[in-house]
Amino acid sequence: MKVLKVDHVGIAVKNLEESMKFYEEVLGLKSEGTEVVEEQKVKVAFFPVGDSEIELLESTSPDGPIARFIEKNGEGIQHVALRVDNIEGALEELKAQGIRLIDEKPRYGAGGAKIAFLHPKATNGVLLEISERE
Ligand code: ZN
Repeated sequence: MKVLKVDHVGIAVKNLEESMKFYEEVLGLKSEGTEVVEEQKVKVAFFPVGDSEIELLESTSPDGPIARFIEKNGEGIQHVALRVDNIEGALEELKAQGIRLIDEKPRYGAGGAKIAFLHPKATNGVLLEISERE
């Protein structure tokens, strides 16, 4: 498995439009626009920062993973994503090493990236996403 870089840091927010103001107006970052990812019940905005990005996530449903995260922990960092060169290969390697996974197979995330989550029990409490983009 080849990990290429920190792809993005995912931050759970209650109100996407409101939260975007800080990144745009205070930090001067430009978002790539917002996108709804139905499957994950989120509306997201990505802000490129150098070679990585900040992802803001608002839940589109009270029973979505981001809504449940905020209920438990409040707003804040929800996951860290690492870019890999080959996500299928990475998942095979992780499985072979007995690493606990949330997603055994990649699914599609924002921007058409292939993504999969590792279980926080396997990563010192961090919800780790691996992603591959064309
Ligand atoms: Zn993410």
